[in-house]
Amino acid sequence: MKLVFHGHDYRYAVEQSLLAFFPQERPVYDGDQGEDWAQVDLACRGETWTAVTELCRGGRARGEASVTVPAGTDPYEAEREKQKAVKLSFFHAARALTGVTPPWGALTGIRPGKLAARLLEAGKTEEETERELSEVYCVSRQRRRMCLETAKAGLAAQRDLGPRDIAVYIGIPFCPTRCAYCSFVSNSVEKSFHLVEPYLQALLAEVASAGAMVRELGLRVRAFYMGGGTPTTLKAEQMDRLLTAFEAAFDLSACRERTVEAGRPDTIDPEKLGVLKAHQITRVSINPQTMEDTVLQAIGRRHSADDIRRAMAQVRAAQFESVNMDLIAGLPEDTPAGFRRSLDECLELGADNITIHTLSLKKGSRITLEGTRLPGPEEVGEMLDYADPTLRAAGFAPYYLYRQKYMSGSFENTGWCMPGQENLYNIYIMEELCSILSLGAGGSTKMVDPGRERIERVFNLKYPLEYTQRPEKIAANQQAFAEFYRSL
Ligand code: SF4
Repeated sequence: MKLVFHGHDYRYAVEQSLLAFFPQERPVYDGDQGEDWAQVDLACRGETWTAVTELCRGGRARGEASVTVPAGTDPYEAEREKQKAVKLSFFHAARALTGVTPPWGALTGIRPGKLAARLLEAGKTEEETERELSEVYCVSRQRRRMCLETAKAGLAAQRDLGPRDIAVYIGIPFCPTRCAYCSFVSNSVEKSFHLVEPYLQALLAEVASAGAMVRELGLRVRAFYMGGGTPTTLKAEQMDRLLTAFEAAFDLSACRERTVEAGRPDTIDPEKLGVLKAHQITRVSINPQTMEDTVLQAIGRRHSADDIRRAMAQVRAAQFESVNMDLIAGLPEDTPAGFRRSLDECLELGADNITIHTLSLKKGSRITLEGTRLPGPEEVGEMLDYADPTLRAAGFAPYYLYRQKYMSGSFENTGWCMPGQENLYNIYIMEELCSILSLGAGGSTKMVDPGRERIERVFNLKYPLEYTQRPEKIAANQQAFAEFYRSL
């Protein structure tokens, strides 16, 4: 769709609104107007900024929204308000044209809960916050409730953090096979077995130098998360070496949780789980994504639902403090009935954390490339509509949520847990509450100042081979991290 702006250049804001209504559309800025276009104007009179959107796509509609920006408003806040007017005007035009109100209304962006957290922090009551989400942003009742609950979980986690608290992430970018929806840089172990040991050697060196840096900077590790890929593709002996090195390098006396993603059941066995227990891993994550064999096959998993049941029995026997299971709504070949069976079984299997993702199709995934048939947005909505009351009835509550681009039906990913089983790392990273020091290939280190006003990132090298061959990049990232803290 051709986008034309007058009086602003808020491309990202408009593109997000466009995707919420028309996920197949891609923004175009050059060339002829064509049949599908939107013109979004922003103008100021006194302290009032008014945005007007004219939208043409199989019909025509107009939307308008105004905000007040008093003189002396903080420039960052003023920008946010003007963008809000632009988004709302597009939303009103698109809603008038389509007759559709997306589940998140006019709220766009990765963290819809952030607005609720900001309003609560500014002293608004829960009722006032909910009213604003409803009346200004037209967020559905179910999403308003989730927004408030996750915002409150974020604020509770924030209260417990000190100015020099951080979380540490270690990435293991290997998996047994590549899932059809995956767009991560994950190498199937079969094809890259020879890379695992050199990768581990480079990682051990990074762990040692990062630990020394963190001690020298006087930072406190509050959460540890090992993800990937699938960390449990490492052999038990390799995992033992890595966790031993990690414990030696970092002071973990204030670390409140240690998570390892044991994502694929075909990588789990009692010996590996024993190593995790011996290193005080408190939380493991088993990620079946579905309990339907036909769907597992369609996404390229080389294991069955029975393998997941077996893995969960082993995990239960090892008695971790918390066990997460991930499901995805909208997988190829899945149906609302199949999703219902999957969720019911995860509950029966004893998970106390269940993360419900909505399929997000990124460019590099096999599904996108092969054009596989997928459940439509209505079916995905049906799946999520089942998840919410079912999880609540089982005693779960949502504690973090985020959205991604190209998400089926413009829904969300939500972490649900039993009371007290919140995974702090997920809250820290989603709410940007503290720095995340990321070790290994493919990750990104996020540096957050204690006031959460300054956020900077450095990116690790993506692929295991280049990661092992270019230690100078690791050194440069660590230097950037140290300089960030020295400058505070
Ligand atoms: S387990 Fe996760 S990281 Fe590995 S291939 Fe599947 S989706 Fe990608």
